Amino acid sequence: MAQHHFKTEVSRLLDLIIHSLYSHKEIFLRELVSNASDAIDKLRYLTVSDEAYKPIAFEPSIRVVIDKEAKTLVIEDNGIGMDEKELEENLGTIARSGTRRFLEKLPDGAKKDSNLIGQFGVGFYSVFMVADKVEVTSRKAGTEAAFTWTSDGKGEYSIEGASRVSQGTEVRAHLNDEGMEYLGRWSVESVLKKYSNHIAYPITLVSEEPKYDDKGEKSGSERKEEVVNSAQALWRRPKSELKDEDYIDFYKSFSGAELGGFGASGGDEAPLHWIHTKAEGTIEYTTLFYIPSKAPLDLYRADYKPGVKLYVKRVFITDDEKELLPVYLRFVRGVIDSEDLPLNVSREILQQNRVMTSIRQASVKKILGDLAELSKTNTDKYAAFIGEFNRPLKEGLYSDYANREALLGLVRWKSTAELSSPGGWTSLAEYKSRMKEGQKAIYYIAGGDEERLRKSPLLEMYRKEGIEVLVCAEEIDEIVLSGLGPFEGLELKSVNRAGSESELGREPEGGAKDESGQAKNPGATAAVEKAKKALGDEVKDVRISKRLDMSPACVVVDSDDPSLQLRELMKQLGGSEMPEVKPILELNAEHPLVKRLAAADDAQAEDIAKVLLGQALLVEGAKLADPSDFAARLTRLLK
Ligand code: ADP
Repeated sequence: MAQHHFKTEVSRLLDLIIHSLYSHKEIFLRELVSNASDAIDKLRYLTVSDEAYKPIAFEPSIRVVIDKEAKTLVIEDNGIGMDEKELEENLGTIARSGTRRFLEKLPDGAKKDSNLIGQFGVGFYSVFMVADKVEVTSRKAGTEAAFTWTSDGKGEYSIEGASRVSQGTEVRAHLNDEGMEYLGRWSVESVLKKYSNHIAYPITLVSEEPKYDDKGEKSGSERKEEVVNSAQALWRRPKSELKDEDYIDFYKSFSGAELGGFGASGGDEAPLHWIHTKAEGTIEYTTLFYIPSKAPLDLYRADYKPGVKLYVKRVFITDDEKELLPVYLRFVRGVIDSEDLPLNVSREILQQNRVMTSIRQASVKKILGDLAELSKTNTDKYAAFIGEFNRPLKEGLYSDYANREALLGLVRWKSTAELSSPGGWTSLAEYKSRMKEGQKAIYYIAGGDEERLRKSPLLEMYRKEGIEVLVCAEEIDEIVLSGLGPFEGLELKSVNRAGSESELGREPEGGAKDESGQAKNPGATAAVEKAKKALGDEVKDVRISKRLDMSPACVVVDSDDPSLQLRELMKQLGGSEMPEVKPILELNAEHPLVKRLAAADDAQAEDIAKVLLGQALLVEGAKLADPSDFAARLTRLLK
């Protein structure tokens, strides 16, 4: 028999699992049962949709067999099975993107973090936590040949011919010391109930149990065979029959991979919220959607795994169809079960199918509507939701125009106002309700982390005059807000832009005239002129500011220019290079440094102007083109 080596990635993964997952070792059973259930799903689908498979008579069944003498635990299904090549591909390499991703992402320091790894859907390989040898015997549906894959999980495996009466797969785990507890019927039964109760097929647990006579004396043993799960498609049961526990258990029966890789709520954590809907009418379908309590770790990856499974009349069709919900709702987990789609629906058909389109539209409306309800009835829960999923919802603002209104009601921002709401979040509508009388626009500051934004000199006069400013620290905010258009007739204005200060009451000192028409502060004009001369084309313009109170200077961008932070972001995203944008320097005419600038000779004026520009750029989080020049000038001034 030929010996094969695992691909190196498998060896590494095995090592990680074995060393990091012990505290979660029971999940191996969830993963194996989930594989068995998937295999039955696949065969069931073929027997109703493909002529070649129709003759296969089969009663879906999963059996878990404990053999105390042989110290083995067997998980057996009569599903699709694997041929020789598939055994090799599926169990000898990591084809799954989820697993590969996991290995790529894992920082060295995290490798021992069992919590992190424990929440990850590790799949089949987790069996090596409890077994020192595993034999997988499988026969592919529609073929006669069977093969056994054997490995001790240490780097090598072998495949040889075998025999099996019918199609399906048997995973025989030779339990190691860590796995001994799974020779006890009670242990196995409780793990199966915990994770696999709502698997749609019966799971029969088989074991030899001691027999007792009338006197309570042990008299041999008997074979006990019982179905231990509820074996129902939970979503098909009426809401009125279901308790919270049932919904939570069902969610927990999803494998880690289904929940979006490690970092998702991975089986142990209850979902944040669920939405169960049965639609009857021109089209009939049932949906059960879950909002996880933690964002899946692949949420911001282009190759994220979609979280919603499609069933047609309870037959599983696919769990890999990103079109079932819009991309911005990719964090939603759950099931869509349609009565009207054809069973042999192909991906192409699915994407233009009228039934699917209406299910999708109605599902989005339902989810958004339910979240709106949640935001009113349970503000704490809603704040937790926003903490994880604000950002994907904001993507919806520019990708889903039809639901723009609903989404605008759901997304949240931080603010300079003192808010008592959980998490300090506000909606645009709430902002509007707090606006000062006569206020003409909604103001926001974006680009950079929250702490830095809150300290920005750009906010000084808004704060002094009691005008609230939204603090938008998420990368996506600037793109979303600048493209949003007016909200209920109010323009959205960024405070780091020329023009956004027009509402501030204070007249620029240099511009204010006294009764005789003389400028009140002629020094301000001189400061502006000197700064312009000193800075040349480093800036687009120099102006006297209305927005500064304490700070001497700030930089803003012109009304139509992209902000410094936005340009930085576009660069990171690898988008097309944006044209160089020069900032406008604004000076605080009342500040001693600016007054000094007005009175300085040319050499000193250059130092002051360049230091003012440099420090204004620094507080905006920008990099200085020539830091040592900045330092030299600063030193000269301090002397
Ligand atoms: P996952 O189930 O997340 O894809 P696994 O490591 O658990 O990852 O399994 C890898 C692959 O092996 C599966 O995708 C499936 O194709 C195959 N497989 C595993 N168990 C079975 C089974 N009982 N019957 C048929 N195929 C299986």
